[in-house]
Amino acid sequence: PRFEEDGEGGIVFMSNNLASSSSSSYGYANIEKQRQRLPVYKYRTEILYLVENHATTIIVGETGSGKTTQIPQYLKEAGWAEGGRVIACTQPRRLAVQAVSARVAEEMGVNLGEEVGYTIRFEDHTTSGVTSVKFLTDGVLIREMMEDPLLTKYSVIMIDEAHERSISTDILLGLLKKIQRRRPELRLIISSATIEAKTMSNFFNSSKKRHAPEGSTPGPKLEPAILSVEGRGFSVKIHYVEEPVSDYIRSVVSTILLINEREPPGDVLVFLTGQEDIETAIKLLEEEAHSNQKNSSGLLPLPLYSGLSRSEQELIFTPTPRGKRKVILSTNIAETSLTLEGVVYVIDSGFSKQKFYNPISDIESLVVAPISKASARQRSGRAGRVRPGKCYRLYTEDYFLNQMPGEGIPEMQRSNLVSTVIQLKALGIDNILGFDWPAPPSSEAMIRALEVLYSLQILDDDAKLTSPTGFQVAELPLDPMISKMILASSELGCSHEIITIAAVLSVQSVWIIARGVQKEQDEAKLRFAAAEGDHVTFLNVYKGFLESKKPTQWCYKNFLNYQSMKKVVEIRDQLKRIARRLGITLKSCDGDMEAVRKAVTAGFFANACRLEPHSNGVYKTIRGSEEVYIHPSSVLFRVNPKWVVYQSIVSTERQYMRNVVTINPSWLTEVAPHFYQNRQNAMSF
Ligand code: ADP
Ligand code: MG
Repeated sequence: PRFEEDGEGGIVFMSNNLASSSSSSYGYANIEKQRQRLPVYKYRTEILYLVENHATTIIVGETGSGKTTQIPQYLKEAGWAEGGRVIACTQPRRLAVQAVSARVAEEMGVNLGEEVGYTIRFEDHTTSGVTSVKFLTDGVLIREMMEDPLLTKYSVIMIDEAHERSISTDILLGLLKKIQRRRPELRLIISSATIEAKTMSNFFNSSKKRHAPEGSTPGPKLEPAILSVEGRGFSVKIHYVEEPVSDYIRSVVSTILLINEREPPGDVLVFLTGQEDIETAIKLLEEEAHSNQKNSSGLLPLPLYSGLSRSEQELIFTPTPRGKRKVILSTNIAETSLTLEGVVYVIDSGFSKQKFYNPISDIESLVVAPISKASARQRSGRAGRVRPGKCYRLYTEDYFLNQMPGEGIPEMQRSNLVSTVIQLKALGIDNILGFDWPAPPSSEAMIRALEVLYSLQILDDDAKLTSPTGFQVAELPLDPMISKMILASSELGCSHEIITIAAVLSVQSVWIIARGVQKEQDEAKLRFAAAEGDHVTFLNVYKGFLESKKPTQWCYKNFLNYQSMKKVVEIRDQLKRIARRLGITLKSCDGDMEAVRKAVTAGFFANACRLEPHSNGVYKTIRGSEEVYIHPSSVLFRVNPKWVVYQSIVSTERQYMRNVVTINPSWLTEVAPHFYQNRQNAMSF
């Protein structure tokens, strides 16, 4: 792409001036010095004073200023973890939880999992009675409320990355506001990278009953405090493309080469949309390196997305070897959740993967969509950490100024609400429409969710959780449709198989993303492919993995992701334990795949589709007559059986069904009579 010489060039993005890059092996004294150099350090006393005296403190500060890693330590040093109390810090992303907790443990000179620990779904690295600084996803903290509704063990809860407005963050904010009324001693810190402090402050300030309980000792001020952490800044020069680019992955690759050819040393951070994009760009870059040694010499491409193994994560944070230029190709996670040292150049594709929900068709799908101006500014800010930097935006200045939306939409308002409703119901919150939301969801979406939950027999006529089904589903840390499928497998005698499937559906993908070897990968898939569809294929994959003598080599040979497979085995063990606790009969159906497909249908009946006659692969959803197609990664791609249910939809130029299994349509009325009663005509048996 051709870039304009000067765009929003004069604008200075504030970021933090850290003279030298950090390294993990410098020792304690050096770590202390590094800590003191961070912008939040100057505010240490003020932060502690505000937290002491206000129920809620809102802290806004640029990415890298030290909010996440420092504030929990300040609180600990000031005694907030004494008497067995715990300081919590939530993050929307699992990978961020792992990375920042590891960093804080290192700074404190303790083993991760002891004084400093972390918990994400299916992974608990804390020690009860020992861990006093705990990092966790906001989803996990909501789950903890089922056991301990007032979260009594926590003295301070820091809701970090609040600007992201993830669905769990929003639910948590609403719930914590309720808890605060019952626990005046609890302190909240809401931290974020952008100035949305007023909205948050208004949210915590607005209430009918905000006075302290009578006769109690004077507690903290109920009015939230707002603190803005100033960073010292380096300017970031913005370059826009002159003409819109047609293939942003190719443009990314040529821009990397351009930077490498023309610009002085400094790492490059590239924002792409997901694992697939990232792997494609890395492949292209490697091809380029082969054909054109000069432009790509010294480049060290590294992927960054959730689901990376520990060792892959560590590479991201280790200092760049001399004479090399790190090129970190990342999803949104590097926008604000993680701080990367040494980045001087940012390439912004202008896109990210976002969830969208249409309550009319009841389809929630992942879409590659344009980012907001707020995101674009965050992304470019990442270039100015160590010295003045440059940001290459792969869109035109006119597009940025006149077409890009100003802010993103909170996830709550673009999601299917089935899980949200169950979680709130399980916490005893019955009037969900009347719940105090930071951003209320649409009533259409809410009604859709209630309808599905009623059909799944999770809610009864009075919209209360059913017993036992509703409560069991709430207990399982899974998508409710997967939970329902597990419960159904108990009766159908195939819980062993279904729990394996549930574990596979809980990891990103068991297949590796291989470019240029599509044919070989397809052949490998065929070795496991089952005519019944992907779910049954997963059972074959799992069996093969367990029987393999050398699992790493076996995975490599079969284009399977060894890390994912190991995760599947772990998750499966945990699900088995939970299932046992819930009284689910653990049993194998010994190859009766009809039972397995029926159980899948019992969970996913709302996602049933029928092949349009003479249509060459066009399916229509029974629910909303939406046009959908089988995803090319499915073993049923081009097979096109007449009736299927799918797990999820991804949208590109079409809506594609991922993880598809064949069904018998008569099962639909059997497992979900209410849901399909009025749709008999549409189904025309
Ligand atoms: P914020 O939450 O305000 O974005 P952080 O607390 O995450 O800031 O980061 C503060 C600083 O700590 C960073 O600028 C960086 O120097 C250092 N840091 C954070 N995480 C790591 C890590 N995993 N490895 C090395 N340094 C890190
Ligand atoms: Mg942070």
